[in-house]
Amino acid sequence: MVLPFKHEPFTDFKVEENRKQFEAALSAVRTELGKEYPIVINGEKIYTDDKLVSINPSNKDEVIGKVSKATKEHVEQAFASAVEAYEKWRKVPVEDRAHILFRAAAIVRRRKHEFSAWLVHDAGKPWDQADGDTAEGIDFLEYYGRQMLELEKGKPVVDRANENNKYFYKAMGPGVVIPPWNFAFAIVCGTAAAPIVAGNPVLLKPSENTPVIAYKLVEVLEEAGLPKGVLNFVPGDPKEIGDYLVDHKDTHFINFTGSRATGVRIFERAAKIQEGQQHLKRVIAEMGGKDTIIVDETADLDLAAESIVHSAFGFSGQKCSACSRAVIHEDVYDEVLEKSIEIAKTLTIGNPSEENVYMASVVNQTQFDKIKNYIEIGKEEGELVFGGEADDSKGFFVHPTIFKDVDPNARIMQEEIFGPVVAFSKAKDFDELLEIANNTEYGLTGAVISTNRDHLERAREDFHVGNLYFNRGCTAAIVGYQPFGGFKMSGTDSKAGGPDYLQHFLEAKIVSEQF
Ligand code: NAD
Repeated sequence: MVLPFKHEPFTDFKVEENRKQFEAALSAVRTELGKEYPIVINGEKIYTDDKLVSINPSNKDEVIGKVSKATKEHVEQAFASAVEAYEKWRKVPVEDRAHILFRAAAIVRRRKHEFSAWLVHDAGKPWDQADGDTAEGIDFLEYYGRQMLELEKGKPVVDRANENNKYFYKAMGPGVVIPPWNFAFAIVCGTAAAPIVAGNPVLLKPSENTPVIAYKLVEVLEEAGLPKGVLNFVPGDPKEIGDYLVDHKDTHFINFTGSRATGVRIFERAAKIQEGQQHLKRVIAEMGGKDTIIVDETADLDLAAESIVHSAFGFSGQKCSACSRAVIHEDVYDEVLEKSIEIAKTLTIGNPSEENVYMASVVNQTQFDKIKNYIEIGKEEGELVFGGEADDSKGFFVHPTIFKDVDPNARIMQEEIFGPVVAFSKAKDFDELLEIANNTEYGLTGAVISTNRDHLERAREDFHVGNLYFNRGCTAAIVGYQPFGGFKMSGTDSKAGGPDYLQHFLEAKIVSEQF
């Protein structure tokens, strides 16, 4: 008997005891930095000379770990291991598979601050963001275990007098998991655990920015009793092994989360049937966002400013759900902008592995340069009213940045920046607020700040995003509460952490017996 799913609580860092425990975890992890990590194929740990070197983005000189790089030959071995493991793993009783996830959740929960401390060092996450990332990982393990126990029952179909019908779900075959770096534990956990509990061995290729924390999950699942070959860990250069993983004839699904460009490439390549391939590949592609908060003239303006600032600058705007567009009714535009600037002035920036700050660096030099470039573009397209500074001398620090009076079709209103930059635009009525909200190719998250019931109900139907929020910010979806996934070019709307998610990795079968 398994109790219903319960969301893992967040740590309150206002409590001194919690802060002390977290500092102790940061110190403990610091003593582990710089180690070497292997590829894992069929349970075997393989070290190569060629390594991915992961650094602390808030302190570029600090090496977090060196992770062995898989070649195409390693990928080939990993497929062989997954194909072999599939025959046994798919027949392991669902309850046993689910309990491996529950045990893994228990292990991570016991070492929660340690995992979060790795995220602070490896991904440059501020403490609360790292804590949320670890909690979400635990939630995915607990939630998908329970969902699989439910799905195992199949769905009811009708019997006739001389006939018995059974409709049930079965695993589909080995697949590939390709996560991003920005939820370096949670998304790795969720995107790997879901196909695994459904009975499918996987090849996990972590992001080259955050491979160390991904390896920690591999260790946990091994400790929890996952058989060899079910989770093969193949870190590497995506240019070298990315296409190979996607194109392989034994790939049954690609569970991808990342940018639009990579997602589209994978989607197109996966459609091509390879020699020896006897199935169509499924692609789950959760991609970028250009997320809007709209504020009408009836809104609570303090709530509006709080929601915009925290959705735009939490984790330096490096969330697919981050608010990068604030579209405000002209009657309250100046006031919301002023209030937002005042709140942004209070945000602290620094190295999270040393102190509890609100914002840290962005993830790497490429992102730093890209964001800086967009700030220059923003200066042409609107008026810079706050921030704009960037400094990569120690780490990749970009200050919270606000532009006002930006045309809804401007580049900084249309293109995903993935940094702490938000553009403000004005609209004359609710029709125009909605029209601007919908005028990008993305459709991931959005929020409406309003006390007008008619406006909220219109947005419920006509604001075209997968995750829409009323009177709150547009980030921080929680497993089991707000299943996550986007419309349009934000992806395949898989709704991670929701009741339909596991079906992406299952095939429904009907067996009809005559008497
Ligand atoms: P990215 O596309 O650069 O990389 C994502 C993953 O794809 C990485 O593991 C990378 O190594 C791999 N990859 C790169 N090229 C590949 C190729 N040719 N073949 C196979 N794999 C390849 O994205 P990123 O910078 O890691 O993540 C940020 C992006 O992810 C943003 O666009 C963000 O909006 C998006 N994101 C979306 C969601 C969502 O749920 N919709 C969640 C988090 C992040």
